[in-house]
Amino acid sequence: MISGVDQNTFSLPLNDFIKPLTRCTDCNCKLTEIGKHQIENRLTSLTRKCYDKFLIYPECGQIY
Ligand SMILES: [Zn+2]
Repeated sequence: MISGVDQNTFSLPLNDFIKPLTRCTDCNCKLTEIGKHQIENRLTSLTRKCYDKFLIYPECGQIY
């Protein structure tokens, strides 16, 4: 019971911290989730093996 309360109190500041990162610092475009197959040719083999979903800034093409 106590640990559940702790999780709720911590979730709000954590969300506030993550939010600004969804906008690109260069062109302010919105971070979008993208499937692996759509950017496969831009990935290294190690990255392909470890991750299935990626985040991309569609305006400037930065991938995370
Ligand atoms: Zn951008």
